[in-house]
Amino acid sequence: MRSSSLVLAAALAAGLNSAAPASAALKVVATTEDLGSIAREVGGDRVTVDAIARGYQDPHFVEAKPSFILKLHAADLLIAVGRELEIGWLPPLITQSRNPKVQPGAAGYLDASLTMKILEIPTGQITRAMGDVHPQGNPHYWLEPGNGRRMAQAIQAKLSELSPGDASYFAGRYADFDRRLGEAEKRWDAMMAPYRGAKIVTYHRSWPNFVERFGLQVIGYVEPRPGIPPSPSHTLELIQEMKKQNVKVMLVEPYFDLKTPNAVARETGATVLVLAPSVGAEKEITDYFQLFDYDLTRLAAALKAAGGK
Ligand SMILES: [Zn+2]
Repeated sequence: MRSSSLVLAAALAAGLNSAAPASAALKVVATTEDLGSIAREVGGDRVTVDAIARGYQDPHFVEAKPSFILKLHAADLLIAVGRELEIGWLPPLITQSRNPKVQPGAAGYLDASLTMKILEIPTGQITRAMGDVHPQGNPHYWLEPGNGRRMAQAIQAKLSELSPGDASYFAGRYADFDRRLGEAEKRWDAMMAPYRGAKIVTYHRSWPNFVERFGLQVIGYVEPRPGIPPSPSHTLELIQEMKKQNVKVMLVEPYFDLKTPNAVARETGATVLVLAPSVGAEKEITDYFQLFDYDLTRLAAALKAAGGK
C-alpha cells in the first residue's frame, strides 16, 4: 500500500483538497452501492455519495484502490455494511485515509448492521480455520426491504447528527422513501405470492433475508460453506438432494464461476439464474428499488417456468 500513500501525498501536495466546496454538502462514502443508493435517497442534495465496491463485485473481496483512500480522506461520513463483510479490505483503507472523522468509533463512521435484522448468527465457537466468511451472522441483510427501511432510518439519524440544520430535510426525504418503499413492497409481495414455499438452491449464502421475506426455501448451497469453493463430494450430495426434492431453480451471484452450477443444472434439469445481489450489478439497476424489480421479475419468471413449487 506504499503506492497508495504516495498517491495521497501527491494529491494533497497538488492541492486537490484546497478548493472549498460550493455548498456544505456532506461527503458520504458508502462501502457498497446499496448503502450508497439509500444514502442518496435520504441525503438528497445535501450530500455527495461515493460507493466503493461495485455491485457486480464480490463484496467480501474488493481490490483496495488508491482512489478509495482519497475519497475516504475527504469524507465526512463512512457507511459500512459491517458484520465483517468488508474485513478483508476496508480497515487498511480507513487507516491510510488518515481521516480522524471516519475511524471506527468516530462520529463519521456508521456500521449499518447495528440496527438491522441479522440472520444466521452463529451460536457455537467459530474460528477462521473453518473458512467461514460470516462469523458474526449473515452480512447480506440489505436484500430485504424491511432492512432497507432500517438502513434509511440509521442513515437519516446519522446525517441529522452530523448536519443538525438539515434534520427536517432528511426527515422529509426519509418519509418519502418510506412511502415509496411501502408501495413497492405491495407490488413485490404480489409478484411472489404464487411461489410461497418454492424450493431453490443458491451459490453463496447471500439470500437468507430475501428468501425469508418472500417465502422461499433454500434447500442447499453450491458452496459447502460460505467462502469455500465447491467440492466434488458436496456437489454430488447437492445434486442428489435437488433430485429428491425436485428443485428446479438455482440462484448464482454474478461473480462466481458458472462451471459447477451448469454441471448441477445438467444433472438436475434446473435453471441457473444469475441474479443481482446489489445495486449496480447490472447497468439498469441504478437504485434500491430497481434491485428488487430486477431480481423478483426474473425469479418469478423462472419459478413459473419451473412449475411453481
Ligand atoms: Zn457472504
